[in-house]
Amino acid sequence: MTKRIYVDNAATTKVAPEVVEAMLPYFTENFGNPSSIYAEGREAKKAIERAREQVATAIGADPKEIYFTGSGSEADNWALRSTAKALSSKGNHIITSAVEHHAILHTCQDLEKQGYEVTYLPVDKYGMVSPEDVKAAIKDTTILISIMFANNEIGTIMPIAEIGEIAKNAGIVFHTDAVQAVGNVHIDVNEMNIDMLSLTAHKFHGPKGSGALFVRNGVRLISFITGGAQERMRRAGTENVPGIVGLGKAIELATANIDQKQKKLTALRDAYIKKVLETIPYSHLNGHPTKRLPGNANISFEFIEGEGMLLSLDMKGISASSGSACTSGSLDPSHVLLAIGLKHEEAHGSLRVSFGEDNTMEDVNYIADSLKEIVERLRMMSPLYEEMLKNK
Ligand SMILES: *Cc1c(COP(=O)(O)O)cnc(C)c1O
Repeated sequence: MTKRIYVDNAATTKVAPEVVEAMLPYFTENFGNPSSIYAEGREAKKAIERAREQVATAIGADPKEIYFTGSGSEADNWALRSTAKALSSKGNHIITSAVEHHAILHTCQDLEKQGYEVTYLPVDKYGMVSPEDVKAAIKDTTILISIMFANNEIGTIMPIAEIGEIAKNAGIVFHTDAVQAVGNVHIDVNEMNIDMLSLTAHKFHGPKGSGALFVRNGVRLISFITGGAQERMRRAGTENVPGIVGLGKAIELATANIDQKQKKLTALRDAYIKKVLETIPYSHLNGHPTKRLPGNANISFEFIEGEGMLLSLDMKGISASSGSACTSGSLDPSHVLLAIGLKHEEAHGSLRVSFGEDNTMEDVNYIADSLKEIVERLRMMSPLYEEMLKNK
């Protein structure tokens, strides 16, 4: 493959060499089953417990509060389904937001079919959930609040500590999908009064298929997969030892250089946003101008389709995303962009660029210059653009 510029780090990231190196022995010499009592088993078990400590340390939790999963989606499903079931005698009401990842939204829709009641809070034009709205939505029957830490499409960082405090005062379990936030934003589950938190390794230079759920001591967690006694009888199945080791190493690296990463990515992001908005007319930023993920820039370009932009960018060696990776391939506009008030056409013409530590200012300039050319060319072919010019 020729040189590519990868700016889709919100979809997935390249595994760090140190992470690969940490994982490798657990495919070969240390291949033991962690449930076995002989030396190979004990070695694998030890590696899992080390990773559990690494994950706990990264978010200010106790290792006993960490459960490994097969993905961020699984952690989200588990948090919601377990809490709904465990607290069904207390109530059936769940509060979430309209801009959650589908792992939350589709799970909530499924729970509605099972008789639960779900409030999908609206967001403001920046994609922010208001803590006052959370408070106002609480009823006697509310058993769970689930609000994402940072949005995967537009990058908006939610007021998690404020929501955590409201949940704590009301005695309601608070879950957050922190998949996009881990490694990008400081997280402390105690300071922020978070009861449950989902994360996944492949969003911070760890391997795919390896996630975790934090569950505060005292919050009930119902077994998700029945079978063996793994994960303290909560999730059966022989552990993905290399994946878990990779998750532990990746989260340690990601949280160790978080300040440096924030600084670098914010500089790239802001330079890109500035250049694009200045050089391309009829373009506007989606999401909050400052309370956003360091690497995320989501910009709408009027009168054109995101898919066309993506294909043209791809030909120039640039890998980016329109909306979220999970919805590309479908013609429905992003639920997040609609929730912040964009019209269907505007939502279709949006581009998400998510920078990573491998990117440079040169990349920023190349992408912005390429985009200017691409947007101009696509608009020349756009009937909507022609009409707009005529009516001006
Ligand atoms: C990527 C992502 C997920 C899903 O994680 P997987 O490990 O890919 O299942 C969930 N929530 C958010 C916010 C994400 O960005």
